[in-house]
Amino acid sequence: MIKVRGPLTVWLNGRIQVVKEVRLEGNADDEVECKGCLLTHSFVNAHTHLPMILLRGLVSEKGFWDWLEEIQRLEEEMGKKEIEAGYYLGLWENLLSGNTVVYSMYRDYDLVEETFGMELHTGPISFREADEDVFFLLERFERKAPEGVVPTLFAHSLYKLPLKRLKEIAELLGEKPIEFQIHASETKEEVLEVKRKFGQYPVRVMEALGLLTPRTMLVHAGWITKSELDIAARYGTSLVHVPASNARLAIHGFFPWKEAEERGIRVLFGTDSPASNDGQSILHDLRLALLFAKDRYWDAEPFGWRNVSGAFDKKGFALWEPRETVLSVGKPLVNTFLYAPHLFSLRLLLRRGKVLWPQKVPGRVDQALKVAERFRERMGELHFK
Ligand SMILES: [Zn+2]
Repeated sequence: MIKVRGPLTVWLNGRIQVVKEVRLEGNADDEVECKGCLLTHSFVNAHTHLPMILLRGLVSEKGFWDWLEEIQRLEEEMGKKEIEAGYYLGLWENLLSGNTVVYSMYRDYDLVEETFGMELHTGPISFREADEDVFFLLERFERKAPEGVVPTLFAHSLYKLPLKRLKEIAELLGEKPIEFQIHASETKEEVLEVKRKFGQYPVRVMEALGLLTPRTMLVHAGWITKSELDIAARYGTSLVHVPASNARLAIHGFFPWKEAEERGIRVLFGTDSPASNDGQSILHDLRLALLFAKDRYWDAEPFGWRNVSGAFDKKGFALWEPRETVLSVGKPLVNTFLYAPHLFSLRLLLRRGKVLWPQKVPGRVDQALKVAERFRERMGELHFK
């Protein structure tokens, strides 16, 4: 057991309390002195592309389509060694940000051999693998997925994938209760393209194909109509809000948070790729999500700490230490945490009783850093000349 001595603020399962001390299940007997700290569940980063951490900051001041073109050109420079390094660096950064569950959509997902105590949802497919059978890819991955990895299906988007592949995925979803994630209604152009290609709005197309299930997650959803939300609600499909990345690439549209909640749709939060965010802190993205919502709805009241329950990993705990100047307890401390996250540092991270932070930097992360540095030197030359 780990004893955390306060008094401290505890924000768990939708309740905020101030208590003298807390006992947490842990793999070590320990006492932590943390007066004035905040205990929360750890976070779920419901959408990222981990290896793209190697491309962080390389393409800036570009809108989505120009950004994508340039990023894809740089991605061609990444071999398996770099992608593997990107997975470990990306995971480590999520851990340091207090995220203990991560959904990552990227190729070469089978390179990951350890997750540092986190839960990583990854697997087939991205649009690059359209020539291989999804059933085969998934089965092969399920057989070899290491501890901590949850095999999950990914599709880049309706507009990137051939119809044959989309039908194959739908067939698989009908047979197997597996999680499935797809970029949906990310840009205005995408919605128009899908309408041209299929004659319907994206979520209607997904319904017709059989891609909507309670385990389907629609990422972005900034250009989604109310009737599409009704459909998503009927299937129990979730939305993933990625506010920082949407804003950085100037594609935001309007994330229908209020309308989703009114329909009982689960809202999750993701950072999206470190090449378009640039960080992977869900806490920092929650700040933006809340500010954007208040600002864009012209209504401050419906959005606050009660609305972010979809961000938490119930199996994890994070202890946050505020700077001396914060001077708050209870609900005011939670508000400060959400609106000024930079005033807090991560003191302790646990998942299923195991201490994830602090821990010694794993050898794989050290190795990955060296690979990444060499790659960045090469990219710097390529990109800036
Ligand atoms: Zn994405």
